Amino acid sequence: MSEFLMARTELTAADRARLGTLAATLRSIPALAERYSAVDTVDSLDDLARVPVMVKDDLQVALAHLQPRAADGATWVFQSGGSTGSPQVGYAPTGLYMREVYENWGALDPSDVFVNGWSAGKMWGAHFLVNSYVDLARCTAMNLGAMSKEEYDPWLEFFASRRVTAYGGTPSVLRLVFGHARDAGVKLPDLRKVLWLGEAWDPQLDEDIAAVAPNARRWGMFGSTETWVVATNTPDCAADQWHLLPSSLICVGDDEMLDFTSLNPRALNPVLRYRTGDAGQVVTCTCGRPGALRVLGRRDGLVKFRGHLLNVDDLVADLGRVRGVARAQLLVKEFADRGSVLEVLVLPTGEAGDDLAERVRAHILGSAFGPSVVFQRNPDALEVSPVAALIANERTGKISNLVVRRHP
Ligand SMILES: [Zn+2]
Repeated sequence: MSEFLMARTELTAADRARLGTLAATLRSIPALAERYSAVDTVDSLDDLARVPVMVKDDLQVALAHLQPRAADGATWVFQSGGSTGSPQVGYAPTGLYMREVYENWGALDPSDVFVNGWSAGKMWGAHFLVNSYVDLARCTAMNLGAMSKEEYDPWLEFFASRRVTAYGGTPSVLRLVFGHARDAGVKLPDLRKVLWLGEAWDPQLDEDIAAVAPNARRWGMFGSTETWVVATNTPDCAADQWHLLPSSLICVGDDEMLDFTSLNPRALNPVLRYRTGDAGQVVTCTCGRPGALRVLGRRDGLVKFRGHLLNVDDLVADLGRVRGVARAQLLVKEFADRGSVLEVLVLPTGEAGDDLAERVRAHILGSAFGPSVVFQRNPDALEVSPVAALIANERTGKISNLVVRRHP
């Protein structure tokens, strides 16, 4: 049975009006009109359960047709994706819907000195969205963006001398910064809050943050460029468990696939049962609040490698536990003439030693995960390369667990 999850106990009159408007909007789009022709009134969750789900292309088709405009103030266009899929566009009015986030999530307060570590520019929304939140929280803010490796030490020194209390970024970026800070013996005793958004939490961060900033705890936001922020969590919540904002309505399908509906009347994206590819389940959060969403991650994490299923996220997490590995990344190189090669890129920690590549290789060959048998037969299909930097999306700094490159 699929199950609807929302912050309020039932749909309000305004919610029903919003659902009707969303359905009418989708019916007005030529490419979607037929599919939504039978959906006129959506007065209950039972009605909503009969509404067809939207997939990524549907929303992009709808937005291209609608060219949404905000009624008050500017219309902002943002873009996500590009590292593993085609770019997704999303629209938002000035303020980026952050008032609702502010009213339901107390990550920052006026006493905070906050460093925004999300990169600005190239139409990625996170940097600007967090600044809208900062505006409401009335704290002191510094816009840093992502740092390059050579910049870590001077900026970390700056954080310490300016008594920075809060720092935010994508977990990929945070992992590199805190990993470096830990190796370099940096201490940030004033740092109390680590804000994150854009990827799943990396458990290695818990250890690194504890060593660098023992007073810091994590505060998360969950969403996408198309749905915007739909849920938040606090330090008392498990990192994969989330509390919905009042305007969010999420359906957890039979197959655990999630779809998202935005009840916010100001939302410019027609998000009506929109599937992002994430899976999840309804749980009672570790903080004690029931009706929380546990996000299980994307269901597209399984790839075929030489006929064997490879669970990308599991392998990367497993390699992250090998001594001397700060983080691993899988690069699948597809050659037309000699089949695929898995190159495991490993970012070493200070304690890695010269035998890191051999140890990682032995770890993979000795493990029971899918393709290890392939490498026992075809040793050339596996390469392990210690690298100075993993392959990052240059716009967002995000580091995908998997990069696929086709070679002619
Ligand atoms: Zn919680």
